[in-house]
Amino acid sequence: MQGMEMLLSGLNEAQRQAVTAPAGPTVVFAGPGSGKTTVLTRRVLYLLEQGIPANQLMLVTFTRAAAREMRERLEQVMPTRTRELAIGTFHALFLQMLRESGQGIPPLMGQGEQTGMMRELLAERELPTDEETISTYLNQIGLCKNNGFLPGRLRVEKQKNIIFRDLYAAYESKKAEHGVWDYDDILLAVYERCRQPEWLSRWQAKFQHILVDEFQDINRVQYEILVKLAAVHQHLFVVGDDDQAIYGFRGSDPKFMLELNRDFPGLQRIVLSINYRSTEELIQATEQLIRHNRQRQQKPRAGTGIRGPGVNWLEPLDEEDEAEQILAHLADGMETAILYRTSTQARALIDALVRKGIPFMTATGESSVYRRWQVQDLFAYLKLAWNPQDLDALVRIINKPKRYLYKDEWIDECWAKARKRGGSLLAALPELEGLEPYQVRYLSELRDQVPRLSRMSATEAIGYIREQIGYDRYLETFAKETGNDQSSLFEPLDELVMAARHFSDGQGLLAHAAEVERRLHHPEASAPVKLMTLHRSKGLEFDRVYIIGLHAMVLPHHRSLQVSEQRKAAAWEEERRLFYVGMTRAKTECWLSISQTRQGKKVAPSPFAKELGYGEELSVSDPPVERKREIERTTRVFASARSTKRTQPQLRFAGEEVAPGLTVNHIRFGVGTIVEVTPLGGVAPGRKILVRFPGQTQSLHYELSRQLGLLS
Ligand code: ATP
Ligand code: MG
Repeated sequence: MQGMEMLLSGLNEAQRQAVTAPAGPTVVFAGPGSGKTTVLTRRVLYLLEQGIPANQLMLVTFTRAAAREMRERLEQVMPTRTRELAIGTFHALFLQMLRESGQGIPPLMGQGEQTGMMRELLAERELPTDEETISTYLNQIGLCKNNGFLPGRLRVEKQKNIIFRDLYAAYESKKAEHGVWDYDDILLAVYERCRQPEWLSRWQAKFQHILVDEFQDINRVQYEILVKLAAVHQHLFVVGDDDQAIYGFRGSDPKFMLELNRDFPGLQRIVLSINYRSTEELIQATEQLIRHNRQRQQKPRAGTGIRGPGVNWLEPLDEEDEAEQILAHLADGMETAILYRTSTQARALIDALVRKGIPFMTATGESSVYRRWQVQDLFAYLKLAWNPQDLDALVRIINKPKRYLYKDEWIDECWAKARKRGGSLLAALPELEGLEPYQVRYLSELRDQVPRLSRMSATEAIGYIREQIGYDRYLETFAKETGNDQSSLFEPLDELVMAARHFSDGQGLLAHAAEVERRLHHPEASAPVKLMTLHRSKGLEFDRVYIIGLHAMVLPHHRSLQVSEQRKAAAWEEERRLFYVGMTRAKTECWLSISQTRQGKKVAPSPFAKELGYGEELSVSDPPVERKREIERTTRVFASARSTKRTQPQLRFAGEEVAPGLTVNHIRFGVGTIVEVTPLGGVAPGRKILVRFPGQTQSLHYELSRQLGLLS
């Protein structure tokens, strides 16, 4: 095939129309899997084919990974002509423009440095310095900058907002003082430069064709820059889907898709309506979900007629069982993505994958629960138990809980004393000069308690640090003093307790955590299994997708809902879109998993699950509740789980003969045969049965399913 024919091969009529649209402002507006990215790639080839020089094209993608992939695809087709293309994220491309204009670029702060700077500023103001607070403030600053609001332009009245403005201003001056930039400064610098006519016309002349993928996630500053750059030639070609806008919390807004109409009179609007990615069943299910959003543009959506199993539900007992069930499926080697709302949720899965030595890949930047500071604190205790000379570990925990040792001089003195008397820093502690009697008492206690940890199982050791040594008390006080949400602070520790059950002692747990870190940093690129947050899955596609931990308070995430009353509805809708983005990644199989317990506590399913029909069969025992009440209820469940000791779920079952070979009838899966029966230890009593239904095998909780009327 030659030239044009090859360019258009396999495309439908609307797609061809988009690829060959006459030069001028064009927006392709279409749902997931309809070929927006495909069209964009072909459009680049088309323009090159038309004789447009490659260096006049600018192609914006949402992530660096997407840029890389796009370049590879293009190079396969036109290896020589595509080399000079400018492909990248807004940040990368704008940075390039600034460099080429001879502007000196200060060193850019990475996420770690940004976090460090914010922590310092918060500490100076005696505000909480935990990760959650830091990221909330950084997101808010990003939100302002992406909207072009500098601190001087913020008009605030409420005390809370005054604090924020002061912090934002301090952050900006600290950056200036250190001579560094954050990534949003790149956008603002280009924005400023665009006001200079010569500068602007130079870049208008260079980039005569601008193409943008994932346009729904554009923010105000980016949008205004684009409008200016494209003002002369008007060759702006963008593709997007308002239903997939998921970065509102950083200032992105799909409304800019509509503003194009105003800023580019004569805008061509092309709609693609066939979803080539997913089966009819999946298209129907995701449509059913997104219909609940009010703020959206209706789009026609049809499938290609390919049929499949539809949405599958997994109802594991807990997160370990969830991991086990999913791992069992993975044996077939099918390309699979496992998605979750927050990284903590992936702990059990990653542990299981590492334990079994199954190769997997995570999106870059994915972090493990073992990195969280609370977990690192507990690890410091464990490290000291095996190595009483570990100074870093000792410094880390000396005042967690408070032992009232604040002057740094103790460190040198303790180190010197320890060297004299054979090494143990712990033993030297109570002998420091000038201690008050209560300090001696605390330090002797620490000296005696820590070595005991090495004789305990990992679970016992964690429990001992939290309860006897008093780490939980410390964290509770910390939460009160800093006004932090207790349940979020404890979440990583509760997760650690779950993880610890697999290890005979603390050292085993430490070694495992180190191995997890190693695996996360050396991902196996060719592995068919990929783990990532819902946010990072945007634009990708997989044969099979799992979304795990579909619980209330997780989706929608309770933190996203901590916004003003007016913004609440919008926040709900953004969380629903996030779920929608996740589900629409699936080509043939989409598994939604709702474990009955999480971190040993009973949890409710996500209200979004109900919108997909989940639990309709359960309505006898669980009448539908108004959304608001449901959130309140689960908030209370979470809060009380914290304050009371963990209780076993109250489930009692009468014995009943169940054996392999028996036939059962499931309300969703139909008639099947029991293959295996296993008694369940641990959190919930009962038996797990493996049942072969036509076309699939399911693992079910026998008694619970019967109680709920699912199984007869
Ligand atoms: P998203 O909104 O999720 O980013 P998208 O609209 O960008 O999706 P693409 O990723 O371009 O969609 O395409 C989805 C899948 O459909 C890809 O596997 C692509 O190769 C395939 N596809 C696109 N157009 C056609 C077509 N005309 N015939 C067959 N397959 C197609
Ligand atoms: Mg796409």
